[in-house]
Amino acid sequence: MKKTIRDYNLENQRVLIRVDFNVPIENGIITEDKRIKESLPTIQYALDHKAKVILLSHLGRVEVNEDMQKYDLMPVAERLSDLLNCDVKFVNATSGNILEDAIQSLKSGQVLLMQNTRYEDLNGKRESKNDPALGSYWASLGDIFINDAFGTCHRSHASNVGIASHLPNGIGFLVEKELNAFQPILNHPVHPFTVILGGAKVEDKIEVIENLVTKADQILIGGGMAYTFLKASGIFVGDSLVDENHIDYCKNLMEKYPNKIILPIDSVNAKEINENADSMEHFISDFEEKEIGLDIGHNTVKLFQQYISDSQTILWNGPVGMFELKPFSNGTKQICELLKKSKAFKIVGGGDTSAAMMRFGSSDWVNHISTGGGASLELLEGKKLPGIEIINEK
Ligand code: AMP
Repeated sequence: MKKTIRDYNLENQRVLIRVDFNVPIENGIITEDKRIKESLPTIQYALDHKAKVILLSHLGRVEVNEDMQKYDLMPVAERLSDLLNCDVKFVNATSGNILEDAIQSLKSGQVLLMQNTRYEDLNGKRESKNDPALGSYWASLGDIFINDAFGTCHRSHASNVGIASHLPNGIGFLVEKELNAFQPILNHPVHPFTVILGGAKVEDKIEVIENLVTKADQILIGGGMAYTFLKASGIFVGDSLVDENHIDYCKNLMEKYPNKIILPIDSVNAKEINENADSMEHFISDFEEKEIGLDIGHNTVKLFQQYISDSQTILWNGPVGMFELKPFSNGTKQICELLKKSKAFKIVGGGDTSAAMMRFGSSDWVNHISTGGGASLELLEGKKLPGIEIINEK
């Protein structure tokens, strides 16, 4: 078990908290503040326990000087101030006297946000390459380090792994929530355990399939990746998205696990991809020349329903069709409906999948929606996340 923020006496301590404030900002206006809200329980806990709170976050990719203005964290400090209902001191620096003096004069129960950690990337990618001197410098500004940025835990950066290697450390409530949701699924899922995989490419999900095929009772495959599997089964799929480099992989997998990989039996097709496209639904054996498969059909929904309604644990990653366009959105919408009715423990991962859920109504019927697309994918692939590995065990 990893140490958490609860394992430390925070009073009067300078507590460095790595948060994920990588929010969309357009012309200085934050258009979605979900990530800021998700970090509040940890920040509030530290403030309630009289810590001197120093927040670090990245925002976007800072590659050239012009990116600095675009990825300035100042608007986040203002929003955070409103949400916490207290003053958040913003320091427009990532090192040097101004930052050090501001931390020096910070009192217990006060909070400071320093400028975007990736400003340091302008200087030889010091943050993203985990420059040892940078990690050690940032660590010198605090007494305790808490990692609450799940979205970056799959990366080894100066602001997570770098700092953690020099200070007593722990995870925050957001990271703890993510691990508590994923660990049971990965280590001892309650069966029947169904995985629903969709999205565009097989290539992106191969390692997830490899890791989960032995743990799950079945993997229901939809989305663009289904057509590579179908072609590998000898089915003509017209002009659908097919990953030719992975046909053999799919063939071998289906031979090895004949009862586990469940493919669509019908498909919603069109000859062009747009909002007004004429779509037609066919059994999978009836594809015509030039047709592109863009969603699962009604019979596939019924087939998937049999597995979903029996399941005790369900993991969903990737929309089962091009849900952004109305003619190809029904399959993903129906999966939402089926999951809504299911009594299983349900986890959803991936930005597109949660975007789809929001589009088709609420998301309060899932037990957990992962905040970190890349990080959750790597957990599902069975990989160790460096940002978590470096944290002390209890
Ligand atoms: P991913 O990021 O891999 O989860 O992929 C999500 C994207 O896959 C979404 O933008 C969907 O529009 C897209 N997608 C879903 N089904 C298909 C399909 N049949 N053909 C092409 N793209 C698809």
